[in-house]
Order: sequence, then structure tokens, then C-alpha cells
Amino acid sequence: MEKLAILGGTPAISNMPDDLFRWPIVTREDEEAVLEVLRNSWQSGTQITEQFEKEFAAWQGMRHAVAYCNGTLALEAAMFACGLGSGDEMICASKTYWASCLQIYNLGATVVFADIEPDSLCIDPKDIERCIGPRTKAIMVVHYLSHPAKMDEIMAIAKKHNLLVIEDVSHAQGGLYKGQKLGTFGHVSAMSLMIGKSFATGEMGVLVTNDKEKYDRALAYSHYERNNAKYISTENLQKYANMPLGGMKGRVNQMCSAMGRVQLKYYDERCAEIRKAMNYFWDLLADVPGIQAHRVNEAEGSNMAGWYAAHGIYKRDELGGLPLSVFNEAIKAEGYNQSIGGNLPLHTHPVFQDYNGYNTEKPTRIAFTDRDVRLLDHDLPVTEALEMYSVPWFKHYKPEYIEQYAAAFRKVALQADQLMARARPDESKPGHWFFFKDE
Ligand SMILES: *Cc1c(COP(=O)(O)O)cnc(C)c1O
Repeated sequence: MEKLAILGGTPAISNMPDDLFRWPIVTREDEEAVLEVLRNSWQSGTQITEQFEKEFAAWQGMRHAVAYCNGTLALEAAMFACGLGSGDEMICASKTYWASCLQIYNLGATVVFADIEPDSLCIDPKDIERCIGPRTKAIMVVHYLSHPAKMDEIMAIAKKHNLLVIEDVSHAQGGLYKGQKLGTFGHVSAMSLMIGKSFATGEMGVLVTNDKEKYDRALAYSHYERNNAKYISTENLQKYANMPLGGMKGRVNQMCSAMGRVQLKYYDERCAEIRKAMNYFWDLLADVPGIQAHRVNEAEGSNMAGWYAAHGIYKRDELGGLPLSVFNEAIKAEGYNQSIGGNLPLHTHPVFQDYNGYNTEKPTRIAFTDRDVRLLDHDLPVTEALEMYSVPWFKHYKPEYIEQYAAAFRKVALQADQLMARARPDESKPGHWFFFKDE
């Protein structure tokens, strides 16, 4: 076995082509589309956005799509579309990015955190019922890091308890669960298309639904210029025409809509190449202990979409208890700048504990609920025990380079015993509140 780089051996990874990770793929066609908007001063119009919405809805296989200036607002509009309001509760996994749920405070409603499954890292259907109370109205399902959640079980629980389901598809645009497209299971779905995501347009979000009333509410929430009889037919909304019911503006800068139209044309084929590359990487490591893949069995008709921010699951016990931080140092020495921990569990952040944003007697999280939902946070053992690490997010199937990365992981995992001496006792939990920042 090759000597570990951290112990003085030769790093496994060298000389990568610069397009291996570059994303999104931007061609002359994207540039021309954006320049057309720029040259005509169409940034604040809606004509291109409406074309994008039509094409996106057709691609998604849904009747209606509404675009927003970002995914956070698209998800907030989805919550409003579902009628979430004062005192209502929505169940969501704690292991996700804050914009899956934090904006619910703007509606006077709150979030209840459920545990995740140890393999899919998505909300555990079995834990949803523990979280249900008299004020529960909806479940927010995140297809975490592109892994589809168990939608058949989740929809059955929702039906049994008369709950609405919102899908946050920000990590998994275009993905499949048992042959059906993600974003088509819930009553309404929304997702980010910001530049760091696999479907990348700059800054944009989009909401899809088959329900005309939910579409009307979603549009009325922040699209004041389209809150009129030409678009909206729901009776009790008519008298509020021309105003945004969320008190905010959600219009998209059309340079992003123009880029989105071009990206949509090539998205599926580009994701198919990503999956081929990522599956090849994990296949090379299938027999290696300690570093379980985070992926689905494609034979069931499910897939990992654009494999957003690819990660693996760390099994410390299979590597003699080697701390993840030491594993991480050894991987870095091999030439891959690995990050560890994934999203920090939201329930551990003070904004979900004592933050008082409404200036009432009670913290925002429980300002209008009948029960202290924070007490349920103590029962998320899988979320709290999970250890995960990033793996390279390959954008192209280039076996000779993918093999170098796989060799690095293999080499480190199989020689974990040689790293044990570097373990230090007081380890803090690694992770991030968000992934994307300017590099
Ligand atoms: C990125 C992201 C969002 C928010 O989208 P923005 O476009 O950044 O506002 C929501 N949910 C998840 C899971 C995300 O990763």
C-alpha cells in the first residue's frame, strides 16, 4: 500500500483539468441570452421570466410555475400558498439549510424538527408522527444533498393526518424517486436556482404546483404586478389585486431568467454525466470500510439528480474509532480540500431557541403555539450522531482523474490504524451554517 502523504508519501492527486469541477457550464448561448436583456434594459420586466416559467413547468411536468428572486422567498410563498399562519406548525428535518424553514417566522408560524434516516439523510418518515400536534399543518421535505426522501411513506402519513406536503427541491432539481420527478409529489414544491446549486441561474427560485388556488396565492404573495384578474381567479384574493400579500417584492432580474432558459435545455444531459462520474467514483470505493456512499439504488428508478454538494457518511467504528478530523487532515494531504460535517443541525442554533423577533413575552419559535415545540428537539439522535465529509463533485466523466480521488480515499481509509496516534481528545462537532461563499 502506498505511503500516506501526511506521513511523507506522495499525494494521490495531481494535475486536475480545470473543467472537472467548474459549474455551471456557461456557453456563448447563455452569454447572448443575458446580453439581450442587458442591451434592451429588460431586467425588471416579466416577459422572459414568464417564458422561463412555462418551460420550467413543462419540464417539471406540473401545471404551474412561479419564479422568484431567490429560493428562500419561493419557499416562503409555498408556505403561504399552503395557508400556514399564526400558531401553525410545520415539520422539517434539522439537518438542512436554514431557508428550508426559518422564513416561516414571517408568517407567525413555527417549525418542529424531526430526525433523519442514517443512510438517506432525509427526514425519517417514522419520526414524523412523533412531531405531530394539534396545530401541525404541513411537512417540509428536503431531498438532502440530492438524495430523494421516501415520498411514498411521507405522502401516506400526510394523508392519514390531513397534512400538506411541501418539497424543498433546492438540492435535487430534476431528480427521480421510483421513476417520478422530485417536486411532483407534494401539494406545492419550491427550490433555489442560485449559482451554487446544480440548477444554477444566478439568483432565482421557483415554485411549482398543480393546484390553481395555491398558484394564485403564491403569485399574490410577492408578485404585485401579476396579482390581477389576468393571472388570478381565486375569489377571496380578487379585492387585494395589485398589492403583494407578503408585503415584499419577488420579481426576478430577467438576466437570470434568460440564463435559466438556456440552462434548462442542457440540464438533464449535464446531470446524467455528473451521475455517471459520481457513480464511478463510489463504485471504485464500494469495498472500502468507513466511508459509506450517500447515494440511491438506481435500479429502483430513483437517482441523485445533479448530485449537489456530494458527501459521504463516515463510519468511525469501521476505522477503529479514528476521529473524522484526523481522517480529514489525511485526505487534505493527499490533495483534496475536503470539508466535514455538512449543515449544522438547525435546532442547535439560538435563532430556534431564545431569539425574540416579534418582541413578545415568548421567543419567536413558540410565540403563537400552544406547546413548547423546542422540547421535541432533544430527540434527534441520528441527526446528532451523524458524521459526514465532502467528496469531489465531479462535473465530467473523466476516469483517469476520478481514479486519483478514489485512490486517495482508499489509501487513507485502509491505513486508518497508522493515523490513530494523531487523534486528540476534545473534538468539537464540525459543520457549517451554509456552504456557498465567494472563493
Ligand atoms: C439554497 C437553499 C435554499 C434557499 O435558496 P436561495 O436561493 O439561496 O434563497 C433553500 N433550501 C435549501 C435546502 C437550500 O440549499
